[in-house]
Amino acid sequence: MGMTVDAITVGGDHIVLLGVKGGPAIRPGSQMPTAQLVVLGGQRIVVDAGLGVTRALCDQGVHLATLQTIVITHLHSDHYLELGPLLHTAWTAGLKTQVTVYGPAGLGRYWQAFLDAMRDDIALRIMDEGRVDLASLVQIRVLDAAHDVDLGDVCMRAMRNDHPPLVDSFALRFDGGGGTLCLSGDTAYLPALAEFARGVDLLVHEALLPSGVDALVAATGNGDDRLRQHLLRSHTAADDVGRIAQDAGVGCLALTHFVPDGLAGFTDDDFIALTRKTWGGPLIIGKDGMRIDLKRPNTTLSEQENGGA
Ligand SMILES: [Zn+2]
Ligand SMILES: [Zn+2]
Repeated sequence: MGMTVDAITVGGDHIVLLGVKGGPAIRPGSQMPTAQLVVLGGQRIVVDAGLGVTRALCDQGVHLATLQTIVITHLHSDHYLELGPLLHTAWTAGLKTQVTVYGPAGLGRYWQAFLDAMRDDIALRIMDEGRVDLASLVQIRVLDAAHDVDLGDVCMRAMRNDHPPLVDSFALRFDGGGGTLCLSGDTAYLPALAEFARGVDLLVHEALLPSGVDALVAATGNGDDRLRQHLLRSHTAADDVGRIAQDAGVGCLALTHFVPDGLAGFTDDDFIALTRKTWGGPLIIGKDGMRIDLKRPNTTLSEQENGGA
């Protein structure tokens, strides 16, 4: 295709945390819902497509027309609300090659419904602008824990995690290029994840601050106790995240999917203090747009623990 190699592929294997907020709502001062860009072994893989993913990829220098692989870990909206708009925008940005989207059963229905919702616009652009049919460019594949996926020189493995009431919810592991990386996805404390993440250079794990749950629920204003119960039974408290990192012997732990995020009275220091009860190794508090190199990931550590931004 003669696509230009853009800045993001220069340099070593890394991940960019495009959105680190847990949950779908955004408020003044909060970060953006979940998305990541994995750059490993020459492959670029978008993991999750929460609100803001399209803009965030552009901000990283990624030409949307070069997208090839997207993975959706589970069907909570903070992980796939912007999948359709991402693909549609890539199409209008010049996408002409196949994009493969791996995700839980049910993602195909979302994609078909998105195409249907946008069918007038899509038909118009095909007729009026000479574009190829968007539907022909996107292939949805069901992600499961039984089959490894070869992405060039990178092996992607999925492990069913523990995120009730969803059943199809996955942690991911990538081995290839010069590095290894594990993403927890959304999960309750799952000791078996330590085996799945064994020895990786970098574990990116979701993080819950139990002491912040009541304030978050109050800010959200739901009528009963169900949101509170969901948060406590479906996510991992930061001290348990540290246990996973310790048991897995990972090179570095980065926290993401913060619950709460951007809520008055709760800061990075609260997450650091709770994680430090169980994990003494390199620790990174994820931020929107943060790049973490797999082989020298702890450059931001001292900065944070000395009270920097
Ligand atoms: Zn989530
Ligand atoms: Zn979730």
